[in-house]
This record gives sequence, structure tokens and C-alpha cells, in this order.
Amino acid sequence: MFNNSSANRPLWLIPLAVGVLFLFLPLLGLDYGTSRQVQLSIILALVVSGMNLSLGYAGELALGQVAMYAAGAYAAGLLSIHGQTDLLIQLAAAGLSGLVVGVLTGVPGLRMGSWTLAMTSFFLVLLVPDIISVFKEYTGGRNGLAGINPPTVFGYDLGSTGYYVAMVLVTMAWFAAMRNIVASRMGLALRVLKKSPVLASAMGISVYRMKLMAYALAAIPAGLAGALFANLDLYVSPESIGFGFAVTVLAASVLGGSMSVYGAIAGAGVLQFALNYSSDLQQFSPLIAGVILIVGGVALTGGLAGMGETTVRWLGARLAGAGNDNARASAGASAGTLDHIDGQPLIANDVSKSFGGNQALDGVSLQAMPGAITALIGPNGSGKTTLLNIICGFYRGQSGEISLGGKEMHGLAPDRVARLGVSRTFQTPHIPDQLTVKEVVITGRYTHEQASILGVLFRSPRYRRIVRNDERDAKRVLELVGLAHLESVVATSLPLGQRRLLELARCLISNPGAILLDEVASGLDENEIKVLSRILRELRDKGSTIVLVEHNFQLVTSLADQIFVLAQGRVMSSGTPEHVRADPKVKREYLGVDTGNGDQE
Ligand code: ADP
Ligand code: MG
Repeated sequence: MFNNSSANRPLWLIPLAVGVLFLFLPLLGLDYGTSRQVQLSIILALVVSGMNLSLGYAGELALGQVAMYAAGAYAAGLLSIHGQTDLLIQLAAAGLSGLVVGVLTGVPGLRMGSWTLAMTSFFLVLLVPDIISVFKEYTGGRNGLAGINPPTVFGYDLGSTGYYVAMVLVTMAWFAAMRNIVASRMGLALRVLKKSPVLASAMGISVYRMKLMAYALAAIPAGLAGALFANLDLYVSPESIGFGFAVTVLAASVLGGSMSVYGAIAGAGVLQFALNYSSDLQQFSPLIAGVILIVGGVALTGGLAGMGETTVRWLGARLAGAGNDNARASAGASAGTLDHIDGQPLIANDVSKSFGGNQALDGVSLQAMPGAITALIGPNGSGKTTLLNIICGFYRGQSGEISLGGKEMHGLAPDRVARLGVSRTFQTPHIPDQLTVKEVVITGRYTHEQASILGVLFRSPRYRRIVRNDERDAKRVLELVGLAHLESVVATSLPLGQRRLLELARCLISNPGAILLDEVASGLDENEIKVLSRILRELRDKGSTIVLVEHNFQLVTSLADQIFVLAQGRVMSSGTPEHVRADPKVKREYLGVDTGNGDQE
């Protein structure tokens, strides 16, 4: 089992180390050609880093980085030509220009959904040369933007060494910010989103806003890179900003590992040097980039960064004597760590839903109260999951009201429902890739107190306090479900029983008004069911509102305070377990066919 120690490493250590390394590179006495390639690699790394944020973390294929880069380059260059040579001001303007291009193209691209961002950003890249030539009075058209003045900072001329140092510092600052974003709840939310939009919205994440945020943020490093490029040669050539550059960026992102922070540096370095190794090769550069893209995508899962990480883990496991901390969930997990849970009454009234001619739900009413376990049972196809999906906002019923704590919520989008306090698990647990157990639990906190994006970038005191609270509460809920000893383990490596408990912990950390558990016991062995039952009773006693969708009649009668029996979209019987068990209709229709082991789905 792997221990993910990266979460505990000081966040500034790697950017600092990489930055210092680059700062001292010129001392090696590099020749002109090599040091130029190093400088171009740094610029490319910034653009690639933005690509990683939107492609790798948000799972959105968008090539618009090139347009944002162009916006940054021309903004900085034009400022300089008109007398504003201060690099800091140019960087701010360039970052902002990139951001504007990002938002303007991201909004329509993402609004229309699925592949449209890929397409709109692709066209945007193809349009860049046209836009440049349309405004040729300002941009110089095909001749490029010439006459850029040497950059200054606070009136001091930077000189070539000073400029190199400035480039490295800007890049370090961005990578530190990127690391902060990725390690924050927003970074976790992005990975949840990448795993599944359904999971994301069930956790209160607005899919559209999150993707737009990632795409727009990715515009900042691209804009900065543009400004650095303009001041490097004091000239912006339009040829260098086109479709070929987009392919290079994509290839470097994939090669370095698009879901990584520092992979961008490795990928950019390799691409920059490979494509410009000799001038004979340069005519083939799109071809080389394409080949690297395909090889990187097919052969190197996780790219160079993934390879490095695997190697480090392998060495670490060797050195540690292959330590194994994958103990089974302890049946005697400590109790009483969450003092009180603010459950709310969840009330569905007269809900109907039909799919075409199929009446899946026909006037169903259900009440689930705080401090009680309410079970929803019924044979396959009786409408249980449909009701759950309507409560969570994934479907909309034709009629009926649904409220939590008196707040009407029928018809709201799933992320709104989640933010009102409805938390759920899935029939097949949804666990995002590459997160530790503790991180998965923290993703459940998305709707809680949020830090501003600036707070995240600069790790403000408020942001740090939120992180401390998240960590503390993650520990507490993990203790409650008996997974505390596995907090650093990669979550996808857990067996099914522990995944279900992990989903439960993820629900609990948001202190939900109601918890909906879909077939939470299916696939668990007898021992695991015992652990689960004990935890559910404990949660009920603390005041939780729990809705248990379940096949297993025995489990339900031993656990639930209230049972609703569905059959063909109607509530056939409801009441205490004794009442329901004694109901002749239930005996005939349900228990008659199903003797208590539950049918399979
Ligand atoms: P359960 O969870 O109790 O097994 P469901 O809620 O999944 O039952 O299904 C209830 C009925 O609604 C079934 O007849 C099923 O075929 C139908 N149904 C559920 N979801 C859809 C859908 N998305 N489209 C069409 N029919 C559906
Ligand atoms: Mg179902």
C-alpha cells in the first residue's frame, strides 16, 4: 500500500528547489543556443502548466492557451511600445488579458457542454493569425510586433541576467500558486469532477462554474508567458503563435503528465529541446510533437511526472522494507467523536414520475425524521432509485413537493440540493482517482465555508484555518467509521466494504441535514454489515436523518425505525418494522416472493 506523503511536504519546498536550480543554470556556462532553449522552456512550461490545470485536473480538452498566450504577448508588447516598460505592470496586464480571453471563450464553450469547448478553443487558435493581421496597424500583422523596449522594474533596466532571474521568479511564483490550487479543496473538487460530474454535483459542486474557473485560471500563466516572450526578443512574431504551438503545448502536457504540477517543466523541457535540436529537424517539428503526443499518451500513463512518482514510491517501498499498513477496518472503532449531528426532517409529498408511458412513481410520500433510520424497500424496479434521484435533483418529478428542514427543493439542480444539506452515497461507490482516504473525505467539505480564490493562491490565514478544520474533522469522521488508520492510503485501493464506509465518512463531514444511502450493504460480508449497522445506529442516536434504500429485508427490520415499502411506484405499506412485517399485503406481495435475502440488482 502506498503512503502519499506529498500532502505533508511543505508546499513551497519543490518550487523553491526547482527555481534555485534554474537560477544557477547559467553559472554552468551554457552556450548561447542552450541558454536560449532553457529560457524558451521556462516560457513553454508556464503555458503547459495552464494546460495541465484545465486538461489534467478539470478534464477539459481546450487548446485556447495559445490565444491567451498571444493576448499576453501583444498586451505586454503594446504597453512597452507606448512607453510602459515596467515588467510588473506588463505582467499584470498580460495575465489580465489572458483571463479576459479565457472567460470570453470559456463561457460559450462550456455553456454548450461536452465537446464544444474543445471546438471553440480550436477555432480560436486558428483565428489568432487572422486577428493579428486584421489589426495590423497595432500588431504589425505578419511582420510581427517590433520596437518593444527593454524591460525595467521600478525604473531599473533589468539587463539580460536580471531578465533571466525575473523570468525564473515569475515562473516559481506561478508554480507555487498552482501547487496551492491543486492541494486545496478546489483542486480536490476538480478531481472529483474529473471522476464524474454526477458525483461532483451530488457534493454541491457546480460543474459549469468549476470548469470555467479552471479554464479561466489556466489563462493566467499563459498570459504571463506571453509577456515574458515579448520581452525576451523585444519582438513578437506571429508565426510562433499558431496551431503548431498548440500541438507542442498539448504534447508537452501529456508527456510531462497532465495531472501533475511539475510535470509541465519536464514536458516543456523535453519538447523544447527535441523540436529545436537542430535546424534541419525544425521543419519536422509538428510531426515530432505529434509523435511525442501519441507516444506520451499511449505508453506513459501519468507522463514523466507519473513515472518519477512511481520510481520514488518503488524506492521508498524498498527502503522501508515494503511496510504494509493495510489492516482491515477495525470493528471496534472509537465512538463519540462527533458530538451531535443536525439532522433535518426530509419530507417527500405525493411525488410522481413517469418515463414515457412507464409510471415509475405514482403519488409517493415519505417522511424521514432526525434521530431515525428510515428504510425504503421494495422489489427491483419499484422506483427506489428514482425517488432517490428526484430527491437529489438528478430527475424532476411531474408533481409533488420535497423539502428538507421545511425548505422546498423539488426541481433544484443537484449541486443546489447538496448545498441545502442532502448528502448521498452511490450504489457503486464513486471514489476519485489518486486521492488519499483523507483527501476523499475532505472533498465532502466542498460546500462548507469556502476560501476565496485569492485566499487559496496566497494561502491566507482564513484559508489555513479552513484547511486545519477540514483536516481535524476528516480525522474525526474517519475515526467514527473506523478508517482512521488508513487516512494516507490511496482510496481506490480499498476493498468494497471500506469504500462504502469511506463514502459514508465523506457524507458525514458536511454535517448533512439528511443522508441517503443507496444499497449501502450490498456486497458486504457479515462482519462488515455488523460494523456498518453499529455506525448507522450511532449516527441515528446523534441526531442524523438517515434514509436507507435497501433490498435486504432482515437488515432493514433490524435497523430501521420506519419502513416504507414500495411496489410498482406506490407506497404499499409503511410504519414500524413490526407493523410492516405483519402487514398481510407485504407478506403476500413482497415477503411471499422474496424470503428475506433480497433480490439482486
Ligand atoms: P429500483 O431502484 O426500485 O430498482 P428504479 O427506480 O431504478 O427501481 O426503476 C423504477 C422504474 O422506472 C423501472 O421500471 C425502470 O425501468 C424505470 N426507470 C428508471 N430510470 C429510468 C430512466 N432513466 N428512463 C426510463 N425508465 C427508467
Ligand atoms: Mg435501484
